[in-house]
Amino acid sequence: MDRSPVSDADVCVVGAGPAGGIVAHRLAESGASVVVLEAGPRFDGDRREQLEQHIRPGLGGPWEMGGPRDAFSSSGDSFYPLNAARVKGVGGSTLHWQGMVMRLHERDFELDSRHGVGADWPIGYDDLRPYYAAAERELGVAGAADNPYAPPREEPHPLPAFRPSHSDSIFAAACERLGIDMHSVGNARNSEPYDGRSSCVGYGTCKPVCPSGAKYTAESHVEKAEAAGARVIDRARVRRLDHDETGERVVAAAYTTPDGETHRQEATQFVLACGGVENVRLLLLSDSDRYPDGLANSSGAVGRYFMDHLFAGAGGRLDRPTRQNHVGFNTSECHQFYDDAEPVNGLKLEFLNYAGPSPVIDALHADTWGDDLRDQLDESYGTHISMGALVEQLPREDNYVGLDRATTDDLGDPVPEIHWSVDEQTEAALSRANGIQTRVLDELGIEDRWTVGPDETGPAYHHMGTTRMGDDPDESVVDAECRAHDLDNLWISGSSVFPTGGAMNPTLTIAALSVRLAESLRAALG
Ligand SMILES: Cc1cc2nc3c(=O)[nH]c(=O)nc-3n(C[C@H](O)[C@H](O)[C@H](O)COP(=O)(O)OP(=O)(O)OC[C@H]3O[C@@H](n4cnc5c(N)ncnc54)[C@H](O)[C@@H]3O)c2cc1C
Ligand code: SF4
Repeated sequence: MDRSPVSDADVCVVGAGPAGGIVAHRLAESGASVVVLEAGPRFDGDRREQLEQHIRPGLGGPWEMGGPRDAFSSSGDSFYPLNAARVKGVGGSTLHWQGMVMRLHERDFELDSRHGVGADWPIGYDDLRPYYAAAERELGVAGAADNPYAPPREEPHPLPAFRPSHSDSIFAAACERLGIDMHSVGNARNSEPYDGRSSCVGYGTCKPVCPSGAKYTAESHVEKAEAAGARVIDRARVRRLDHDETGERVVAAAYTTPDGETHRQEATQFVLACGGVENVRLLLLSDSDRYPDGLANSSGAVGRYFMDHLFAGAGGRLDRPTRQNHVGFNTSECHQFYDDAEPVNGLKLEFLNYAGPSPVIDALHADTWGDDLRDQLDESYGTHISMGALVEQLPREDNYVGLDRATTDDLGDPVPEIHWSVDEQTEAALSRANGIQTRVLDELGIEDRWTVGPDETGPAYHHMGTTRMGDDPDESVVDAECRAHDLDNLWISGSSVFPTGGAMNPTLTIAALSVRLAESLRAALG
């Protein structure tokens, strides 16, 4: 394949996940000449084979996550499993994602003003509201207006919500007695045919692969961008951005292709959309005499305030079938405790459709055979019930993404270092989530149970905050339009611009900001 640069490009987008794909599509559609550089490959093989790769041990995962290309370091009190947390390839991490999508609440944009913690965004919920509606159409969100705690919305979701699962109905009786409100979940998967993709047929393997194509992946935006004239170059790893003599404009993205060639893609405007870790790495790798601490980093904020959401969970076995194996994703949530202020950290409860440990894995590790093995699997699968929660981590300067200059990837570039710790306030919020979950499980009379609490928690793989948006160039990296304070033609798309992360899965907000960024960039192109 020809991976040479495009001449006379208006816009160079780096990264082909949802943040890059949506911007590329919008701009190409409006007539701009767009080139997308994507570090990873196109995974355009047979989705059923990819599913088999996931299910059968020894075949490797479907998305080539990890290896020397993706080497990283983890420092800080908590290990950060970066290679489970992202996919490099056309579609980005949405190839692997779960697809739960909801809007941030109003409080997320004004945490400092309301509660004196975190930061305020330079925009409010009302500024983003029309873009949220556009993002729901872009992703094809199935949802209902049955959430009394959600921020105001103007129109129905593009697709009807999925029906609550059977296990949701088991929870519902207990929650009603406890005064806990359940409602539907916004899902970026088709509840009926939409956007050229079929409806969900309930394979239940959404994460990491949906064989039917019902789950949204950013491949669809990349394909639409190409249909509108954009050129997408895969396996093109951008290793630095070069600026002009004044230091006010980026002039080229230098990238390396599999044959070892390095090319320079010039363009009028540049959009960084590499995810919350690699956006930072690329800026830091692009240091110069003018920007010795990294490109766009005169504030010193590049890489700082790294946030993720923390998982809290609890579950156990019921004495009857719970039938979650009919649904592979969450159909009910509870945002009732989200806006509470003690502790301030937002929390959202999830009613999981987790059927129990994988029968394939269990069978491989069992000491029994034949009917005994079948009985064992029957007993362990489809009788579990469990709750999850996402808990907010407030921005802290000392949680950061940096460069580990002592460790290099397969091209010899320093790898990202994730320095991540979970503070006491977040631990208190995790305990609070566990407390609510315990009340529900007690009400259901579940005795044989497990809990994931502050000591065993892990991240939800949402990388936020590392190129934060703000009005003050001394404290933030991009302005309210997502344009770098330091450089006229550098824009950043993705959750790295979030000043706070709330406790909602981030990708709908990424999509909304990307639609908005494309509009601003279109105006800048004139
Ligand atoms: C297991 C899992 C489950 C998830 N579930 C949910 C969910 O339910 N709901 C939700 O909202 N979010 C979820 N997420 C998070 C979601 O996937 C991300 O928020 C989203 O994909 C981020 O979009 P992005 O475009 O900013 O980055 P990405 O999707 O990470 O895409 C970035 C792209 O940039 C490319 N790139 C990186 N560096 C370079 C470079 N130097 N040169 C060229 N290209 C480069 C990468 O290869 C990649 O393709 C989940 C993530 C994971 C891993
Ligand atoms: S349940 Fe199956 S068909 Fe539906 S989105 Fe998940 S993997 Fe795709």
